[in-house]
Amino acid sequence: SLEAVSGVDDLSRRLQHVLGARSDDTDVSFSHIPRSLRPGYCLADGDTFDGASLADLIVGSEGTLGLVTEVRLRTFPVPASVGVALISFNRLRDAAAAVQRIREYSISACDLLDRRLLTLAQETTPELSHWVEPHAEALLLVEVAGDASSDVREQLERLVRKATRKDHLAGPPRLTLEPDEVALAWKLAKRVVPRLMRLRGKARPIPFMEDVWVPPEKLPVLIERAQKILRDAGVVASVYAHAAHGELHLRPLLDLSDPNHQRLLPSLAEDYFDCAVELGGMVSVEHAWGLSRSWYLRHRFGAWHARVCEVKRVFDPQRILNPGRLGDPLPPSLGENIRRVSLPAPQLPLEDGEEEVGTTVIDPQLSESVESLLGFTRQCNGCAHCRVDEAGWRMCPLFHGRPREEASPRAKANLLRAVLTGELPPETLRSDETREIADLCFHCHQCRIECPTEVDVPRIVTEWKAAHVAANGMRLRDWWLAQPERYARLGQRWVGLANLILQNRQARWLLERLTGIAAGRKLPRLAPLPFLKIAQRQRLGRADRGAQRKVAYFVDVYANWFDVELAQATVAVLRHNGFSVLVPSNQQPSGMPLVVAGSVDVARKEAIKNVRLFAELVRQGYRIVTTEPSAALCIAHEYPRLLPDDDEARLVAQHTWDAGSLLWQEHLQGRLELDFRPVHARLVYHTPCHLRALPGGVPGQRLLELVPGLRVSDAEAGCSGMAGMYGVKREHYRNSLRLGLELIASVGSQEIHGGTTECSACKLQMEHRGEKPTVHPIKILAWAYEAMHFEDNPLSRVSQPLTVT
Ligand code: SF4
Ligand code: SF4
Repeated sequence: SLEAVSGVDDLSRRLQHVLGARSDDTDVSFSHIPRSLRPGYCLADGDTFDGASLADLIVGSEGTLGLVTEVRLRTFPVPASVGVALISFNRLRDAAAAVQRIREYSISACDLLDRRLLTLAQETTPELSHWVEPHAEALLLVEVAGDASSDVREQLERLVRKATRKDHLAGPPRLTLEPDEVALAWKLAKRVVPRLMRLRGKARPIPFMEDVWVPPEKLPVLIERAQKILRDAGVVASVYAHAAHGELHLRPLLDLSDPNHQRLLPSLAEDYFDCAVELGGMVSVEHAWGLSRSWYLRHRFGAWHARVCEVKRVFDPQRILNPGRLGDPLPPSLGENIRRVSLPAPQLPLEDGEEEVGTTVIDPQLSESVESLLGFTRQCNGCAHCRVDEAGWRMCPLFHGRPREEASPRAKANLLRAVLTGELPPETLRSDETREIADLCFHCHQCRIECPTEVDVPRIVTEWKAAHVAANGMRLRDWWLAQPERYARLGQRWVGLANLILQNRQARWLLERLTGIAAGRKLPRLAPLPFLKIAQRQRLGRADRGAQRKVAYFVDVYANWFDVELAQATVAVLRHNGFSVLVPSNQQPSGMPLVVAGSVDVARKEAIKNVRLFAELVRQGYRIVTTEPSAALCIAHEYPRLLPDDDEARLVAQHTWDAGSLLWQEHLQGRLELDFRPVHARLVYHTPCHLRALPGGVPGQRLLELVPGLRVSDAEAGCSGMAGMYGVKREHYRNSLRLGLELIASVGSQEIHGGTTECSACKLQMEHRGEKPTVHPIKILAWAYEAMHFEDNPLSRVSQPLTVT
């Protein structure tokens, strides 16, 4: 209890005084509501603090009373057997009524999803489509747990019989106790609600009628009344309920840039919440009151809320803890906290002689218009999934390395939205201060693929950086680092000297001062001749018109200037598998570092050259193959954005492959040669972020597992922390190493011979600490095929030592 905490006697006395005083809120009774669902601080019915535990007060206080530094949890054994039943109904109300018939069983969970969610589930999780009847209006997902699978199955069968007694089913119920299938079924419920935001169009599911509880037997009535309220207003909504517990989540689809829809918000919410309270229910029972529902506390339970405020004042007289919610003076209505989502009203026409000043917020480079760019930022609903550290997720590596709001993906969307809607001045995008926030994104694309609503943060950040570059020009250091081939070309003239400089402590110190390249970072040695020159000599630039299976190799910077052996291995492996390989000598680097730096104009010029060259080859039947994941992502994803009206850019994008993905497809079609010699080694594989962001999957590890004797384990260490040039820059070098610590350690572990990854930057990170080599999977395949001459086994080589430690 609070009295047991040392040094808080005074706090305890004052609290008891507040709670002990009878007030005129005695007509507000929450005693019929389960304690865990009561709103705000547990004060209902004139509780005094005597005997109440501090935990009771803190739980549900939404961070407004104090910070929890230590928690002791009681745990329960995981049940030995879990089963689920999926029951599809023709009508939503029949599904809600069926829940009432099965409540007598010991159900551990029972969720109800409406047609809108089911359609989305079928679209976004295809593996579930055979579980959901195509014309179902509602689905009940019921879970039963127990110690014996026979009991669980029997319970499920009995409750399914009872639920389906009235026969309004859309199809036969499905029942499973298979752990994978049970997990998949719950994936449906977990994934589908956030994915509502992926619906296209201006109307968005707005969570302002969320999180209402009624006694479970009243749930069908609440659903019916809610539908009437929405119907009368001409609004549609998605319905999701934890039906057995009586909790309902409604998400009406509204366009908040439309003033008529904005006006609807408060009245819809009030009618609906009042209805729930009249049915003996409550608002905000599972999630917080937050900004979107706190107003209702004051509105409906004013006197009681005044006492809540007194308690808050006892704990936090200066209103430091989570202000503006729950125990604070609250906004009078829902309308007070709505984000701006419209462009500012057009300016008045200019008078004669008057000059337009500073009105252009941004000249979009990758989006059709300012309005469509605003649409991309509006896609973010602030759900904060990008701040959560969840197993199997990578977003956002930078945020997890520096967990501050401005490092989060949503911060980028919020800031640009605020500028576009006029909440922040246009100069914001041009300032160096906010540019630093934009630089807290290294374009790994992990948020784009993992965000439940697919917010395209890399696009948002690129637009922002481009606006900064347009206003201020490229910073000199960025300009150098965005074009690594310039270094390479320069160094190539005196290749021996350049390689000596790269290994010399003093020279690296000087290089760091001049260019910003961290002295401590291992850098690859320049090859004696760039691969494109070698390819020219070997006449690899000649098209083979008669060949059936032909590929054009996009070499990019690393394989051209530094790891020529990788380029040769790629040609050898592809030829070994019957491909005719063309290496166009006039290809340009992909330009990904330019995109990341915001130098969109220059990136576009480079893209055009590549697009014209490779589009012609695609028309001749070539597929484009690259060994650098960043290059593949740049061509497949960035080029169509840089050149939105260019059909050739789309054509090239559609025919670009990561080399591993192409070979894996060959294997799936039974065409991959499997004449490997055994390679006895244990390797740790790292999946590069840019490969993960491509639609072709990440087959590098599976390909290597085809080689006899080779054992490959997944590092599962998240982002390497390199992100192209990010980890090379002096100012990010230490943070990059911190982010890559786990990966670096995984290569160093004793039983591992080395690492393998497709990305040249990740390779640098993986080789950072030790002598073990990290080798591209294609090289290992070439070695195992004996498809070309190697001086020695690439897996036995010693990685060069650090020049500056
Ligand atoms: S960017 Fe983050 S906060 Fe925004 S929708 Fe995606 S996961 Fe949620
Ligand atoms: S692209 Fe990567 S670094 Fe940038 S915000 Fe998204 S997850 Fe973070």
